[in-house]
Amino acid sequence: MNAAESSVRRRVLLAEIEAEIRQTARLTGCVTLSPAVREAMSAVPRHLFVGAHQQSIAYENRPLPIGRGQTISQPYIVALMTELLALDDSARVLEIGTGCGYQTAVLASVAGRVWTVERIAGLLQDAQDRFALLGLENVTCRHGDGFDGWPAEAPFDGIIVTAAPEFIPPALIDQLAPGGKMVLPVGAGNPGQSLRCLTKSLDGTIEIRDVLPVAFVPLRPGQTDAS
Ligand code: SAH
Repeated sequence: MNAAESSVRRRVLLAEIEAEIRQTARLTGCVTLSPAVREAMSAVPRHLFVGAHQQSIAYENRPLPIGRGQTISQPYIVALMTELLALDDSARVLEIGTGCGYQTAVLASVAGRVWTVERIAGLLQDAQDRFALLGLENVTCRHGDGFDGWPAEAPFDGIIVTAAPEFIPPALIDQLAPGGKMVLPVGAGNPGQSLRCLTKSLDGTIEIRDVLPVAFVPLRPGQTDAS
């Protein structure tokens, strides 16, 4: 796909995402996308994050398989989760579940720096190759178990988890800065999960809001895959 064609497709996709954001506003509390999130969704070339055989459907507003039983999230969900984090351009963000790296690239466009953790080494390597190709210099990757977060780099202004744990990992709550937000799907089922937005106030009080029913792959505790 050439640059002009992908840019037109992103514009059409963005219009679909914005329509869905308006339709779900009463549920999510998110009425519109901020300029930075809109810019990121119009700029990140999703077709570079999916397989060669998926080019014609890369800009459809739906999740797609990325191999190893994992999926790239629906663009509407990527935009919504990014918006709910309320990041500014100096924000430090932790992402759990790099996958193909599409959500990472969107975060890297909106925030100051992104640290991302993935348990499947092969997916992480492909994502890192894409970040290099796109010249993303504000992304740091680690192969590991996201349940532990990234203690050495904490605290984070925003934490996003792109696979569903059955409960919110305590280490991630600890690693969220006062005033920060965490957005993640929670629940054992698929469907049957809820997208939650957790806010840590300046005095450390935690508030958790249910945003939307969702269906994510599970956040798998324990061992990482070496290939
Ligand atoms: N944001 C990704 C979504 C990928 S799906 C994208 O846009 O492509 C969720 C990812 O979470 C998968 O790649 C899966 O391997 C990863 N994952 C699952 N359990 C994990 C864990 N405990 N630690 C780190 N990553 C995990």
